[in-house]
Amino acid sequence: MSDAQRVDLAVIGSGSGNSIPDERFAHTSIAIFEEGVYGGTCLNVGCIPTKMFVYAADVAAQVRHAGKYDVEATFDGTRWPELVRRVFGRIDPISAGGERYRVEDCDNITVYRSHVVFDGRDTDSGRYRLVTADGDVVLATEVVIAAGARPEIPEPIASSGIRYYTNDDVMRLPELPERMAIIGSGYIAAEFAHVFAALGTQVTVIARGPALLRKMDTELSERFTAVAREQWDVRLNQTCSAAAELPRGRIRLTLDDGDLDVDVVLVAIGRTPNGDRLGLDTIGLPLTDDGRVRTDEHGRTPARGVWALGDVSSPYQLKHVANQEQRTVQENLLKGWDAPDLASFMHRDVPAAVFTRPQIAAVGLTEAQARDAGYDIAVKVQAYGDVAYGWAMEDTTGFCKLIADRATGRLLGAHLMGPQASSIIQPAIQAMSFGLGVREMARGQYWIHPALPEVLENALLGLDLD
Ligand SMILES: Cc1cc2nc3c(=O)[nH]c(=O)nc-3n(C[C@H](O)[C@H](O)[C@H](O)COP(=O)(O)OP(=O)(O)OC[C@H]3O[C@@H](n4cnc5c(N)ncnc54)[C@H](O)[C@@H]3O)c2cc1C
Repeated sequence: MSDAQRVDLAVIGSGSGNSIPDERFAHTSIAIFEEGVYGGTCLNVGCIPTKMFVYAADVAAQVRHAGKYDVEATFDGTRWPELVRRVFGRIDPISAGGERYRVEDCDNITVYRSHVVFDGRDTDSGRYRLVTADGDVVLATEVVIAAGARPEIPEPIASSGIRYYTNDDVMRLPELPERMAIIGSGYIAAEFAHVFAALGTQVTVIARGPALLRKMDTELSERFTAVAREQWDVRLNQTCSAAAELPRGRIRLTLDDGDLDVDVVLVAIGRTPNGDRLGLDTIGLPLTDDGRVRTDEHGRTPARGVWALGDVSSPYQLKHVANQEQRTVQENLLKGWDAPDLASFMHRDVPAAVFTRPQIAAVGLTEAQARDAGYDIAVKVQAYGDVAYGWAMEDTTGFCKLIADRATGRLLGAHLMGPQASSIIQPAIQAMSFGLGVREMARGQYWIHPALPEVLENALLGLDLD
């Protein structure tokens, strides 16, 4: 075992954690620990590569449906290996460059490429003792836990011995599979179903419950499930009781409604925060009931000097939230643990989008949540097909659902399904964030005619607030 390195700050995880040290930390000695690919989930195996594949899938789907617009076109297939090379040919150098910058250009930073755990406190200095799987020991005055989350693998898949994939490796498959089973019903499952189906794979989505995207507004979840069933083979209310390898690498899944034989099984049921693999018991840091590292609104854990941010601790597993939490912790590290004016996490009006087909975006309360909370609400559902650009798109399924509080005249929630939903929703996020009323929002600004956001404008105008 080498001599212990003493640092002012240790950062566990190179995703959002890698953005903590900027020029204001030039005189802080820092250790960054990363056991996986440098740059974390969003860059390497999450938001960014998935959206690059989604865009290709959107193009493929447009071509397949060109006839709807009286345009002659045929979809002749996907150059999958080239697509994989294009996506990761852009991403891998960014990851490698980020790591090289830290190793070669930041004299105050040491990068440890290994799994790390807490091992209590150093008895002499009182610093946190961090031990890597490679045997390095680091003694840190302060620690930021930014260790993210990992794919959850259910039984019987986990112990079946079959080859299965997750978001970590499915985007690097050597060839586009003919048949794929996707186990899961949340946003990651929905995005990959769109990607693989549009690019040419026969996709079966296996959901435990009666609908897809069940955490979203019920009407949205129901409508999306209906559209999904028209695009993919969707099996609802299914449990997988066995999984076995067949000859030539095929996999047989035994479901409630019979056997399903596929080439590739993709598991996308959810993500477990990595706090359970950090030896947190050695510093007396318990996890929340749902497995997250507990923090206050400033990012401080109950262990003095230990901060946490992102998927390992946040109630929202979203990159824009992890980034905001990273900026908060960064600012608070500079201010000091006991500073009276610590910055706070922004856990209100958190939006999310699902880049599936059709796209989905949501912010704020669902209708059921608003009713349960006792609001006197107005609800308006406006179809994309009601506005001119929706006609141009021949859209028959898209909609914008708004929920407003009659008492204040402000939006409580917005839920969209349809093309460009992730962009169209932004004015609603802005209005909710800055307290803009529905009437001012609808009539106090121009809405470009005949752009697609007219669906949001019309929904605002249709809210019965009296
Ligand atoms: C397929 C997919 C698509 C997604 N799409 C979107 C999207 O469109 N929009 C969006 O907002 N969010 C999306 N997300 C979620 C987003 O990627 C995460 O919320 C975000 O990346 C979390 O950042 P983080 O810094 O908390 O963790 P991460 O980026 O996961 O970083 C944690 C790092 O810590 C390392 N680590 C963990 N434990 C240890 C240890 N003990 N020792 C050393 N290193 C360790 C890990 O290897 C990892 O690199 C997606 C996620 C997935 C999986």
